[in-house]
Amino acid sequence: MASNDAPHRTSNSNSQLTILVVEDEPAIATAVAQRLTAEGWRVEVARDGLSGVEAAARLRPAAVVLDVMLPGIDGLEVCRRIQAENPVPVLMLTARDDETDMLVGLGVGADDYMTKPFSMRELVARLKALLRRVDRASRLAAAPEPASSEDTMVFSDVVIDRAQRRVSRGGVEAHLTPTEFDLLVMLAGSPRTVLTRERLLAEVWDWADASGTRTVDSHVKAVRRKLGPDLVRTVHGVGYAFEPPVEDDGRARDGADGSPGQPS
Ligand code: CA
Repeated sequence: MASNDAPHRTSNSNSQLTILVVEDEPAIATAVAQRLTAEGWRVEVARDGLSGVEAAARLRPAAVVLDVMLPGIDGLEVCRRIQAENPVPVLMLTARDDETDMLVGLGVGADDYMTKPFSMRELVARLKALLRRVDRASRLAAAPEPASSEDTMVFSDVVIDRAQRRVSRGGVEAHLTPTEFDLLVMLAGSPRTVLTRERLLAEVWDWADASGTRTVDSHVKAVRRKLGPDLVRTVHGVGYAFEPPVEDDGRARDGADGSPGQPS
């Protein structure tokens, strides 16, 4: 692969990017801002929800690190308003793992979640992975690659188009975040094979630390919510496996489809 075909983000190019940090706790806001600045990003901090929405509109940041518990309007509402105005990847900071699950269930539109307390090293790694994914997705949107059969994975009524980064089930497109899409592709690449949470973290998030495995759980929940609970099987205590759907002969169809009855 010629490396000059794909612009590679290095720390040097980080300086062109602004990261907005919306966090009311001064110690955390300062520590995050210092670390991200040291990584070469331009960093702006907003201390409450409304300032965060205003700053996002004004700065057009490359990504937003967004605390959930904020004075004024909370992180959920901030995320909704920011996304409604100008879609931007959001990494949400939550206080508890179950709060992350709740947010995934609500579908507030964040791309990744981290539960406090977190390490700055992990925050930087996650943010870089997030920006890479979004960068890939936006380059594809700007210059769609011609679809080839190699790029398309078909499992019964589930169609995953890796070139266009689109997925549909039963002909209905599901809107996955870039993170959810990469997770699905990783799982679907080895159907019926258990992938550990650590492996998924390492491949999708570039983060191979057991502290982040709940993140995988949250994103699997999101994928299930959008594509159906049967697609991803939990292997208790180990990880997840993609289960290709079986042709459902009980599903309503428009007339005969010519498929033979399933032997039982
Ligand atoms: Ca807070």
